[in-house]
Amino acid sequence: MTAKIIDGKAFAEGLRTRIAGHVARLKAEHGITPGLAVVIVGEDPGSQVYVRNKAKQTVEVGMHSEKYELPAETPEADVLALVERLNADPAIHGILVQLPVPKHIDPNKVVLALSPDKDVDCFTPASVGKLQIGLPGPVSCTPLGCLMLLRDTLGSLEGLNAVIVGRSNLVGKPMAQLLLRENCTVTVAHSKTKNLAELVRQADIVVAAVGRPQMIKGDCIKPGATIIDVGINRVPAPEKGEGKTRLVGDVDYESAAAVAGAITPVPGGVGPMTIACLLANTVTTASLINGLVPPKDLTP
Ligand code: NDP
Repeated sequence: MTAKIIDGKAFAEGLRTRIAGHVARLKAEHGITPGLAVVIVGEDPGSQVYVRNKAKQTVEVGMHSEKYELPAETPEADVLALVERLNADPAIHGILVQLPVPKHIDPNKVVLALSPDKDVDCFTPASVGKLQIGLPGPVSCTPLGCLMLLRDTLGSLEGLNAVIVGRSNLVGKPMAQLLLRENCTVTVAHSKTKNLAELVRQADIVVAAVGRPQMIKGDCIKPGATIIDVGINRVPAPEKGEGKTRLVGDVDYESAAAVAGAITPVPGGVGPMTIACLLANTVTTASLINGLVPPKDLTP
C-alpha cells in the first residue's frame, strides 16, 4: 500500500481563507477586529522567524497584530507588567508569549499571569480545565490542527484505536483529550512505556510527538493506519552538501508510508496547521469575549 499524503499546507491555506471570512463578518456585523499580541523575550533565531510568520499571517487574515520583541535581559517584572497591560487592552483578544523564555524568567509565572479569556495557546489551568470538561474556549494549537487533519482524512473517528506517543502539556495530553471527545479509544505512550512497537501496531491512528528523528518505523505500523507526525527534527543531510541539514519527523516517512493508509509529511504536514490554529483560536476568544458563539468550523 502507498499512503495518501495528508497535505497540511493546503489544508492550512483553506483554513486561513475561512478564518479571513469569519474576521470580515465579525468586523462587518459586530464591529470587532480580532487582535493577537505575540511577545518574545530574547534573540532565539528560530523563535524570531516563527514570531514574524505569526505576525504576517495575522495581518493577512485581516486581524489586528501586535508584536513585542523584548531584549533577553528584560526583568521578569517587566514581562509580567506587559502581560497585565495586554490582559486589560480591549483591542487584544489573544496573547501568546513565545516559550521558552530566558532562564531568569519563571515560565509558570508568565502563564499564570495570562488572562484565561485571551490564552490562545491554552496554557493556563483554566483553559486546560475547560478543554478537559468540554467547555468552549481555545484549544492547544498543534493538537487542534492534528484533529482537523484527522477529521478531514477519516470523517468520524468514533471507536478507532488511537495511540499518542508523547505526553507533553503542549501536544500529547491535549491531543488525548481531543481524541477522547471524538470517542476514540486512547492510549498515551511515553519514555517509560514498555513494548511501544506492539502498542503502536494496534493503532488505527498514531500521533507521534516525541522529538526523536524517525523513531517510529513502518514495521510497527498497522496496515492502513493514519499517521500524524508532529515531530520536527533537524538532521545532517550530507547529500545536500557539507554541513547541510534537513527536517524529519518522529516517523520514518519512507517505511511508514509503504504501510499506512494516510500520513502527514515533514515539513508540510502538521507544522503549517499550528499557526493557522492560533489564528482560529483568536477568532474563538474574540467571539467569546464579546458574548458570541465561536464559529463551529474553528473549534473541536
Ligand atoms: P516534549 O519534549 O515536551 O515531550 C516529548 C514526549 O516524548 C515526552 O512525553 C517523552 O516522555 C516522550 N518520549 C521521549 N522519548 C521517548 C521514547 N523513546 N519513547 C516514547 N516516548 C518518548 O516535546 P513536545 O511535545 O513539545 O514536542 C514533540 C515534538 O513535536 C518535537 O519534535 C517538537 O519539535 C515537535 N513540535 C511540533 C509542533 C508543530 O507545530 N508541528 C509544535 C510543537 C512541537 P516522558 O514524558 O516520559 O519524558
